[in-house]
Amino acid sequence: MATFEVLHFPDERLRKKAVPVEKINDQIVTIAKNMLETMYDEGGIGLAATQVNIQKRIVVIDLSENRDAPLFLINPEILEKDGIETMREGCLSVPDYFEVVERAETIKYQYTNLDNQLVVDTTDGLLAVCIQHEIDHLNGKLFIDYLSPLKRQRLKKKIEKQEKLQHNVL
Ligand code: ZN
Repeated sequence: MATFEVLHFPDERLRKKAVPVEKINDQIVTIAKNMLETMYDEGGIGLAATQVNIQKRIVVIDLSENRDAPLFLINPEILEKDGIETMREGCLSVPDYFEVVERAETIKYQYTNLDNQLVVDTTDGLLAVCIQHEIDHLNGKLFIDYLSPLKRQRLKKKIEKQEKLQHNVL
């Protein structure tokens, strides 16, 4: 298995919209497994294909402590939303930044798994937040888009400062 390079904000490629997967073939399975490897490597709990510059609707998630319960979601879609949940979120594409985001508390969602079965389920808590965060990625949206303009401005300054520091080191 191989790992991919994860794109970082403000890379414009994170804004591309992913297209649906038409057929789950070996190529898709390989991409999904390499995405999982990348996510484990980077210490994340979710990863969308958009983050590794692949514009296909593929998401991998693993919320287990032992990192042994992966979920592969092909063409994930939210069917219903209910309630409000606020959680502190982070993202592999926005390193070292965490902020509270408001999302739906409960979601009914569907996806196709790697065995080509359509799964429809309802969930809440961290999994619901994670699925919403990852589907946003597939649509070119980042969690920081939900922040106030002031907070986003501060984040941008922080990232610019970090980039300058990195350049100094090099
Ligand atoms: Zn993310």
